[in-house]
Amino acid sequence: MTFKDFELHESLQMGLSDVGYSKPTPIQEQSIPKALEGKDILGAAQTGTGKTGAFVIPIIELILRNPSEGTRALILSPTRELAQQIDEQIFALGYHSGISSATIIGGEDFSRQANALRAGVDIIVATPGRLIDQMKVLDIDFSKINFLVLDEADRMLDMGFLPDVNHIIDKLPKQRHTMLFSATMPKELQKLMKSVMKDPVKIEIEVSTTSKQVDQRAYFAPPRKKLGAVEDLLDELDWTSCIVFSATKKGTNELERALKKKGINAGSIHGDRSQEERTASLRAFKNGTVPVIVATDVLARGIDIDNVSVIINFDVPRAVEDYIHRCGRTGRYDKEGIAITLVSKADEKYFDPIKKKVGDDLKILELPEDNKESKKDSKPANTKPSDKKNNAIEPAENNKKKSEPINIDKKTVTISTDKAGKVIVELKNNTPKPEPKRSEEKVQKKNTKIEVKLKEKKPNKKKEVKKEVKNTKVWSKQDRPDRIEKAKDRKQKVRKPSKGIWGLIKSFIPKFPK
Ligand code: AMP
Repeated sequence: MTFKDFELHESLQMGLSDVGYSKPTPIQEQSIPKALEGKDILGAAQTGTGKTGAFVIPIIELILRNPSEGTRALILSPTRELAQQIDEQIFALGYHSGISSATIIGGEDFSRQANALRAGVDIIVATPGRLIDQMKVLDIDFSKINFLVLDEADRMLDMGFLPDVNHIIDKLPKQRHTMLFSATMPKELQKLMKSVMKDPVKIEIEVSTTSKQVDQRAYFAPPRKKLGAVEDLLDELDWTSCIVFSATKKGTNELERALKKKGINAGSIHGDRSQEERTASLRAFKNGTVPVIVATDVLARGIDIDNVSVIINFDVPRAVEDYIHRCGRTGRYDKEGIAITLVSKADEKYFDPIKKKVGDDLKILELPEDNKESKKDSKPANTKPSDKKNNAIEPAENNKKKSEPINIDKKTVTISTDKAGKVIVELKNNTPKPEPKRSEEKVQKKNTKIEVKLKEKKPNKKKEVKKEVKNTKVWSKQDRPDRIEKAKDRKQKVRKPSKGIWGLIKSFIPKFPK
């Protein structure tokens, strides 16, 4: 089956070929025809299966089949990053169709978002909290909405968004198509599902399991050894980009600092960061300038990043679901990946249910570094790269008695005796050799790899140009004069928000004739 079989609008076909989709993924194959028939859809699909396309493609197609003014679709997402990612797909797929969209998410310019809402974009992608805030000050026209998508609904429930979601749904027309995607179906969600959907078609694609393309490993690592273990794993594995998951925001900051201290070019992302910082970190990670990102579970769900070769669970996730979602960041779609979990004694109670779910293949192994240690001379767990070098050039300790090093005129003198009692004087020049920094080497190494990959993939230049445009705008189609005119027309019709106390006072001051 190919996308041609769905007889999609020509402009959408062009969008699909721009992003390089020729065949639908299994979830798309099942959901697109049903959604085009106007059926409600209840989807349970693993992340990385093409879930976003499963709802974005039919929504764009149906808008094109029945064009009309006003906002036609609302997509609710639990996290800002997921919302941005969905919006990016709408932008890419709907580029030739002139479909407009806006992300309404926390941490970004409120008034720019309000302008986009007033202009009446075709599709709103929002996190529930910010949309509610906008609804408090704006009279948003939801009357034309035909499509509602609740993505990662179980996550929205976990994050306490259910009351907000219900409040938003109350304002939408009752006649609409609803698509709900969720990895699990807890009771509260079943209740919501029954109240918002009509006889939904159920589509299930391998729910709640990790992808077969992900090589899962677990190593025993006491807390004090975890940092060194990450460093060693990054040295030994073949990777292009790596996410290190931490349980807490504080832990994420500390780990980022510690990795940087070790010369590893790392960024971080968590809920306490400003949206600007979050977006910048994610962009640097996605484009390969910062190959390691330390993150809380904010990055665990639905975020699609190309070529994440390794994820490391620095802390064992507290729930099996979180483990599955973290693993889902690698081995995306048709690629392979590695997921490593560092398990301390205290972590074992969280690891046991994960092991039960994944199966006996996931055994806790000894760290590769520990194996080496037992064969070689032992070395402290958190040895710095520079220490490693120093250890290598020094003769074995048991053969020598050494004096304390003495510094004389930029030189270090060490006097020692060997087994036979022979006196050895070592003179070391203190002027350091200009060595490249480890992080720079790593970036160079990673960038070379990325370059090779890009050459192989022959990136679509058009798409890259579009992405650049996208990054600078809230509303993607502002550069199209026809849409701007349309938007302006709509803007006249939409009620404007109050202009504050000064506006109110001014409205009471009578105008005197000149
Ligand atoms: P998602 O599960 O929506 O996050 O998608 C995971 C990855 O699969 C993303 O990189 C998509 O761009 C990619 N993808 C989705 N649908 C297709 C398709 N039909 N053909 C090729 N890649 C796809």
